[in-house]
Parts: sequence; structure tokens; C-alpha cells
Amino acid sequence: MKIAVLPGDGIGTEIVAEAIRVLEVLDLRFEMESALVGGAAYDAHGHPLPEATLKLAKEADAVLFGAVGDWKYDSLERQFRPEQAILGLRKNLGLFANFRPAICYEQLTHASSLKPELVAGLDILIIRELTGDIYFGQPRGRRTAVDGHFPGAEEAFDTMRYSRPEVERIARVAFEAARKRNRKVTSVDKANVLETFQFWKDVVIDVHKEYPDIELEHMYVDNAAMQLVRAPKKFDVVVTGNMFGDILSDEAAMLTGSIGMLPSASLNSSNQGLYEPSHGSAPDIAGKGIANPLATILSAAMMLRFSLNQPQAADRIESAVKHVLASGLRTADIHSEGTTLVGTRQMGDAVVAAITKTITKS
Ligand code: NAD
Repeated sequence: MKIAVLPGDGIGTEIVAEAIRVLEVLDLRFEMESALVGGAAYDAHGHPLPEATLKLAKEADAVLFGAVGDWKYDSLERQFRPEQAILGLRKNLGLFANFRPAICYEQLTHASSLKPELVAGLDILIIRELTGDIYFGQPRGRRTAVDGHFPGAEEAFDTMRYSRPEVERIARVAFEAARKRNRKVTSVDKANVLETFQFWKDVVIDVHKEYPDIELEHMYVDNAAMQLVRAPKKFDVVVTGNMFGDILSDEAAMLTGSIGMLPSASLNSSNQGLYEPSHGSAPDIAGKGIANPLATILSAAMMLRFSLNQPQAADRIESAVKHVLASGLRTADIHSEGTTLVGTRQMGDAVVAAITKTITKS
């Protein structure tokens, strides 16, 4: 098994270093090789996703990714901006299924902006289609309008589209994921207004025939946005298109309080995946040793489960994180009165120690 390690920019290097220490203590057989990506790669090689980095990622079973970006690159031409590296990796690796779990740890319910009783024990999974929809549909552009409300005026347009195989494969991913959870899928659409999402709904219903053991419900996206803040625990697996998923997964993330806790996975049809925290490179705190490494450590756990077929090792990491939170250690982003403030390295140390303890016991 080979892991491509791409720490990236800002806090990326600090948090990935802790995830690597956690992986190493598990004493599994895999090879890890690092490469530059994002702004760091642009500075060294003139491109955010150099050929060598892409080759390494393609050849690996999984990519462990930190974060990319810094405000100092904002004036670069779009193709050279650090964030283009993520889009390039998604496209080249065919990563069509994005998994964003939103879990509210018992000890962190106070960090949510919702009432504790609404989020305590929350454990939902948003599955977002990642390579289609209006973000990639052609044609797109600017032109002079020939019809519409203002013929002759300058206008811009994008194209929303999904093909049957694209919807079928993401629906299957969602039903399979639900089988390992609470057997309920909510498919989010806008079938009342959009032809593309009436089609989405029809295809999801067709695929559902292969999964009679899974409960399927359909929800319009506006209602889903509302239900996520009204009664989020009613959801189990939510599956939706690229644009709706982009918005709903961030909304769900905030139910849990801190972005520093949230892992993510993006997978292709061979279960090769890119694993990264849901947050960015946090230039405001980079280099200070105060970033929360837990989202990246939990992303490494997802990597072990989904791409490297090591579910027990994944369980070990997740239990260690729960144990560390229960012991009262907190980085600044999740710190509250009565808990112990620690930095990135100390948090990594604590997770490593908790895993070592379980390994020694077993
Ligand atoms: P951000 O997620 O980097 O930071 C938002 C806020 O959350 C900041 O206050 C930051 O300090 C805090 N934060 C983020 N991660 C944290 C952690 N692990 N521990 C503690 N606090 C944390 O978002 P932003 O500030 O909007 O963007 C900064 C840069 O990151 C930009 O260049 C943006 O393009 C890039 N970005 C990259 C990714 C990615 O690599 N996938 C995702 C989002 C943003």
C-alpha cells in the first residue's frame, strides 16, 4: 500500500505531520512518500500541481492532503492559484464521491451554534457528487443575450447537467454507505423546478430497487437546508449533486461547532481516494503550533477504512480521538472553561499515546 502525502501550505504541514505520527504508531505496512502541492509547489516549481506530484498521487492507493492556499497567491492567474491543485487532483483521479461526515462529539456540543439537545450525538454523512453538475457543465460563458428579459444585454450562463451513469454511481455509493450505518438515505434535489433534478430523482428511485433494505426519502434542497438546522438528527446519509452538496456540507459542518474537527474523503470507482480536513490552510494561525490536527487525523482514519482496507486501525484512531477529548484536552478552536488548552503537537502526542495504550492492552 502506498500513501502520497501532500501537506500543502499554511497549517497543512503542521497538521499532516501529526497524522503521519498517528499512522506510524499503528505499525501497519505501507509506504509514504511526500510531495509539494499548492502554493509551496508553485514557489518551487512554478505550478500548484507539478507533474511529479500528480504522478505520485495517481500511483498511490490514497492521498493524504493537508490544505492549500494563502492570500499572497490571490493575484496569480487562476490556473496558477494553489486551489487549482485540488481541482486537478479530483479531475485526474476521477474522484466523484465526496464524503463529509458531520459528527458532534459529546464533549463538544457546547461549540455548536444550535441547542445542545439538537446536536448531541449527531452523526450524519453528506455524500456530494463531485465531478458533474453546473460546476462542470458545458457550455458556459458570457455573451450578448438574444432572448430572455433583456435581449441585447450582456449575460453570463452555466449549464446544469447529469447523465444517468453519473447519478447511478453516486446513488449506489450512498446506498452502500447507508448499509454500513442506519439504512436511511435522503436524496436532496430541486425536482419541482429543475429538469436535471427531476431526472436525478427518477434515477435514484431506479437504483433504489437494488437496495430494498434501505429507506429512501426525497427532499427539496430548500427544505433540506431548513431541516438541517431544525432536526439534524433525523438524517443518516444525505446524497446530492455537486452544487447543493457544496452548500449543505458546509452547513452540516457548522452544526458540529468546529471546522478543526471535520474530516473528508473523495473517492473514485476503484476506492482510490483523497483524504483531507474540511478546513483550509488557515494562514492566520500558520506556524504558531496552535492548529487543531484532529480533522486531519480523522481523515487518516477514513483513509484506512475506505482505501486501505484497515477498518480496525481506523476504529483505533477514532476511539483514541474520543478518549483524548474525554480527557479534557482542547486546541484553541474548541477550548472552553474547565478544559486544558494544548497546541498541535501536544494534541498529536495525546492521540499517539491513546493508541499506544490500546495496542499495548491488546
Ligand atoms: P480556513 O478554513 O483556512 O480558515 C477559516 C478559519 O478557521 C480561520 O480563522 C482559521 O484560523 C480557522 N481554522 C481552520 N482550520 C483550523 C484548524 N485546524 N484549527 C484551528 N482553527 C482552524 O478558511 P479561509 O481563511 O477562508 O481560507 C484560507 C485559505 O485556505 C485560502 O487561501 C483558501 O482558498 C484556502 N482553502 C483551502 C482549502 C483546501 O485546501 N481544501 C479549503 C478551504 C479554503
